[in-house]
Amino acid sequence: MQLNNPALLQHQSFIDGQWCDASNGEVFAVKNPATGDVIAEVADLGADETTRAIAAAEAARADWSAYTGKERSALLRRWFDLIIEAQDDLAVLMTSEQGKPVNEARGEVLYGASFVEWFAEEAKRVYGDIIPPHGRDKRLLVLKQPIGVAAAITPWNFPIAMITRKVAPALAAGCPVVIKPSELTPLSALALAQLAQEAGFPQGVFNVVTSTNAPAVGKVLCADSRVRKLSFTGSTPVGKLLAEQCASNVKKVSLELGGNAPFIVFDDADLDAAISGVIASKFRNAGQTCVCTNRIFVHEAVYDAFAEKLKTAVHALAVGNGFDEGVAIGPLIDDRALHKVESLVKDALDNGATLLSGGERFESVTNGYRPTILSNVDNAMRIAQEEIFGPVATLIPFTEEADVVQMANDTPFGLAAYFYSRDIGRVWRVSEALEYGMVGINEGIISTEVAPFGGIKESGLGREGSKYGIDDYVEIKYLCMGVN
Ligand code: ADP
Repeated sequence: MQLNNPALLQHQSFIDGQWCDASNGEVFAVKNPATGDVIAEVADLGADETTRAIAAAEAARADWSAYTGKERSALLRRWFDLIIEAQDDLAVLMTSEQGKPVNEARGEVLYGASFVEWFAEEAKRVYGDIIPPHGRDKRLLVLKQPIGVAAAITPWNFPIAMITRKVAPALAAGCPVVIKPSELTPLSALALAQLAQEAGFPQGVFNVVTSTNAPAVGKVLCADSRVRKLSFTGSTPVGKLLAEQCASNVKKVSLELGGNAPFIVFDDADLDAAISGVIASKFRNAGQTCVCTNRIFVHEAVYDAFAEKLKTAVHALAVGNGFDEGVAIGPLIDDRALHKVESLVKDALDNGATLLSGGERFESVTNGYRPTILSNVDNAMRIAQEEIFGPVATLIPFTEEADVVQMANDTPFGLAAYFYSRDIGRVWRVSEALEYGMVGINEGIISTEVAPFGGIKESGLGREGSKYGIDDYVEIKYLCMGVN
């Protein structure tokens, strides 16, 4: 791996301003998902080191929370500038450990950095309130204070953005952080720590614990009452477990969990726009995002035309190693992900779906799966009820608006939904009826640092980004002052 700045490739965890090994010397291998090659060996920490990281964060807390918003803002802005300067190296690191096409990786670096820029600005605007009192002799005030040490447990599909989305608002609010990145993509997290160190965050404010023993690290982060906030992005079962573990000390939790996004194409839709939207929302990151389209409902009147256009668009997606020119679909993260996609496709075909395109591996990388289209899928099939997390588009025909809304909502998840229509009445009706935290209307890409990202139902709790994102990291304190 060729980096302009070799200091961005770190192998150790970062605790209390120091790079450190596991106390027992254990390491784990980080593999390139496109080749299976080991690209680094990283310190494999456990429960004791996690407790040490919490202690370091707690020791830094009083001082960090006393910084003015403007002082914290300046450090965040410096970190943002360093991330932008390092974007090429960060993209190379990310594609090496995660597999996504290097252009997409650069896009994620910019997207991830945008949260740091946004919350550098928001750090100066954590306003309290003065409430008109209920008695002449009283004055009522509201303070917003940092919640305390914040822990972040993050996944592999967005190795930088899922960290900055949590850590930037936490730091902006005045909370020190302990980050446990995915064991599949620790290098991006460690590069962020290196840049945070260069930016000059005080010792103990920014800690990264790398580990393959996620349950042990997670238990400590949940059980230690010095951690006042846990923010998690990942699978729904792990999110539920963490929420349960946090219940013992009533720790605040934010959860960004799985999705099962419907993508509805009404008969009055601009079909070409809908095709662009579905390609972007379905196939980005080889289908491995929680807001990826999972079910495509197409009105019967435009079903055949849409399927034909989708076939043409899917055939234009080049597959291969994310470092190769023009590649749109890289490898899946590992063989477990590949087997899951294969099993869902097989189940759908066994139950009556038809294959329009793909449906097989490609061999130029390990874990490669061709972009696939299945037609005549039924909403009750496993592939429509589970999160695919792979490059498989499933087409489900419908005729009535009320039926499609009912099918779209027929899932425990409620993260993102998309629909295409040019009828203004329908746009309002369907937007309001979809039980989702985010709705794209004639748009397939909705994520931005300026808008609130998050789900309802079993897709999660809390919102990330936007003016609301800092709320998860502050406590509201009410002061009632007698003035006689
Ligand atoms: P995915 O299937 O997308 O990898 P996971 O929920 O398994 O999603 O992983 C997301 C993050 O949660 C990763 O950092 C992983 O190490 C961590 N994790 C997995 N299991 C646990 C657990 N029992 N406790 C705490 N963290 C966990």
